[in-house]
Amino acid sequence: MVEKTEKIWMDGKFVNFDEANVHLLTHTMHYGLGVFEGIRCYHCHDGRSAIFRLREHVDRLFNSAKIAFMEIPYSREEIAEACKETLRVNGLKEGYIRPLAWIGQGVMGLYPGDNPVRTAIIVWPWGAYLGEEGLQKGIRVKISSFTRGHVNSSMSKAKICGNYVNSVLAKREVIKMGYDEAILMDTEGYVSEGSGENIFIIKDGLLKTTPLTSILGGITRYAVMSIARDLGYDVAEERFTRDELYCTDEVFFTGTAAEITPVREVDDRIIGPGQRGPITKELQDAFFDVVKGKNTKYEGWLSYL
Ligand SMILES: *Cc1c(COP(=O)(O)O)cnc(C)c1O
Repeated sequence: MVEKTEKIWMDGKFVNFDEANVHLLTHTMHYGLGVFEGIRCYHCHDGRSAIFRLREHVDRLFNSAKIAFMEIPYSREEIAEACKETLRVNGLKEGYIRPLAWIGQGVMGLYPGDNPVRTAIIVWPWGAYLGEEGLQKGIRVKISSFTRGHVNSSMSKAKICGNYVNSVLAKREVIKMGYDEAILMDTEGYVSEGSGENIFIIKDGLLKTTPLTSILGGITRYAVMSIARDLGYDVAEERFTRDELYCTDEVFFTGTAAEITPVREVDDRIIGPGQRGPITKELQDAFFDVVKGKNTKYEGWLSYL
């Protein structure tokens, strides 16, 4: 369960956690057109707290809104500052930040008319999304029977609420079967991504990740691509198939929630040695150093509270 905090930022002011409610006629609740972000703040080695790539997340929120034809009634600076302030007000040194913009109450029917666009920022403590053990040992994944939406129907570049019906169905299906996470294929049958994570494979020291077609352009994905290249690895953005995935040396997921989570099994095929691979470990270590402010080269990626 999400741990209760003191306050939630709602339409420009702080309201008590239990009073952050909306009406049942909220348009987004019926039709799914709303946008959100997922951001993490880390407690750094020097005792300060830093939000990872805040600017990029806020930019993506506004791009999602643009794709969704929604006008967020705040500036990017106001939303970025409100993310920081919500952490401060709740006394959180580390945690997850969820900005959400939705279409409020007014008219019903598919055309949202002039219904107000409303905005909230919720924060809560959140550990490893796929489990601490998953981070260390790797997780078991299954390819879902659900396909990632076609690029001309789902608008996968946007974190649009309704898009996640596809992800939730995929995730529920594989969890019921005893796996930890789902992988979805694109409409042409190539590997797309996890339910809420991008995917990388490593074969003979070469990293590959799916290109920006059917996937959400993950900020963690970009960060890992840069870090890997700095460590001397080649990274290709190329489509790959499920059989290539089965026979690769290492597989891992990236995402703000999932961070870098190794995958040790896909569809009951053991990947590499069946545990976290050495390059995955190297990238995880480098990533956690970056987010916790231990690598000055990437200081520009951190917004200190
Ligand atoms: C948010 C998300 C990701 C990861 O993106 P990050 O910016 O790294 O958090 C990947 N895939 C999907 C479908 C997502 O919603």
